[in-house]
Amino acid sequence: MAKLLEYQGKEWLRKAGIPVPVGRAASSPEEAEQIAAELGKPVAVKAQVQAGGRGKSGAVKLVNTPAEAREAATSILGTVIKGYPVRKVLVEEKLDIAREYYVTIIVNSARNARCPMMMFSTEGGMDIESVPEDKIFRLLISPLFGLEVYDAVDMLVKAGIPNDQVTTFANLLVKLWNAYKKYDCFTLEINPLVMTADGQLVAADCKMEVDNSSVYRHPEMGIEIARDFPHEPTELDRIGWGIEKADTRGSGFVMSMGFDEKSPGYIGYHPIGGGSAMMGMDALNKVGLKPANYADTSGNPVASKVYRVAKVVLSQPNIDGYLLGGFMMANQEQWHHAHAVVKALREILPKKPGLPCVLLLCGNKEEESLAILREGLSNVEGATRVEIYGREHVTDTDFIGQRLLALVKEYQAEKRKQGGDQ
Ligand code: GDP
Ligand code: MN
Repeated sequence: MAKLLEYQGKEWLRKAGIPVPVGRAASSPEEAEQIAAELGKPVAVKAQVQAGGRGKSGAVKLVNTPAEAREAATSILGTVIKGYPVRKVLVEEKLDIAREYYVTIIVNSARNARCPMMMFSTEGGMDIESVPEDKIFRLLISPLFGLEVYDAVDMLVKAGIPNDQVTTFANLLVKLWNAYKKYDCFTLEINPLVMTADGQLVAADCKMEVDNSSVYRHPEMGIEIARDFPHEPTELDRIGWGIEKADTRGSGFVMSMGFDEKSPGYIGYHPIGGGSAMMGMDALNKVGLKPANYADTSGNPVASKVYRVAKVVLSQPNIDGYLLGGFMMANQEQWHHAHAVVKALREILPKKPGLPCVLLLCGNKEEESLAILREGLSNVEGATRVEIYGREHVTDTDFIGQRLLALVKEYQAEKRKQGGDQ
């Protein structure tokens, strides 16, 4: 899902009428100091990364003066939290916290639910995983009728919210539901939802994830890539997303694994379909090779789309091989893949001569596809380590892994030798 940073999510909350602390994001210590000076009161300086647990890891600092805000920003900006470099800090007024609560809306995908679900707890501020089960209250929400205020009241009373505060909480929960719906969220979590000393409810944190499939409905949100990444999107990821976005016929997905581009021994990985991709991982794992990326071209994509994916996979620096992993009897006509891979390899192999390529393609139009691969890749400059297999090896992860490893070893030895000769 498209995850927003805290400061971005809070902006949408504010627009939906949910109180958030006053403040804004800064990219430099000077800017942080400036914002703190404008606010003219103690501030919280918070790392803006797509990872939780910042409080515990020292990435949320509470300070009293603009100079201290500058210092806090200096110590947080540029660090890396759970793999995400910190490029911005949020500088916002420090809250006078009386109590912290937890509230989230997620999708409950259980078979008997399949609808949004609100979870509320009076034990906010900590990881929800560490809150005892009897302190978490759940409310299924009808996507058609929405959150009724009396259902919210019912849940809040059960959770132990005192009578004189129930209306304040219930109104906020209804606004939260409205925001969830309006922005097509997948997750909207406020932890902590803070009750301040003067009785105001304020969203002190915000984790907002927009449903990937709905991102196109929200150009105002400026979401660049409607995908989750376990790391900051690389150049390859941006190109990969461009392929998906431009053409929705079949999947044409490619994502980097965020690996160290300098280390050798990675394989440009081009599996076809999810289950097949897992078998391909088996093939690689069994022989100690690693995928440089993940990809998927299933669901009968057009050849031009498969070609672009193959081209991106093959263009990765320092790959020592390419695996087209069709570990399944596909019902999509495989000749589109064959044409696409031929075109990509004919362009890449002259630039990466001898690159090991193991191509496994099985299923519908298999014979024709293998013929296209064989014919298209004969007499191609650099195509010295291309092996083509069909259904006789469809589940043969041992064999495919061994063949790839053998070719990779040759290729690496050849590269070392060339390096030594120079
Ligand atoms: P997370 O740890 O990444 O979820 O970051 P949070 O934004 O939830 O901050 C963690 C904790 O820092 C919160 O539970 C609060 O206890 C504390 N905190 C955050 N903002 C403020 C603030 O403005 N004032 C005060 N007093 N505490 C804050
Ligand atoms: Mn939090």
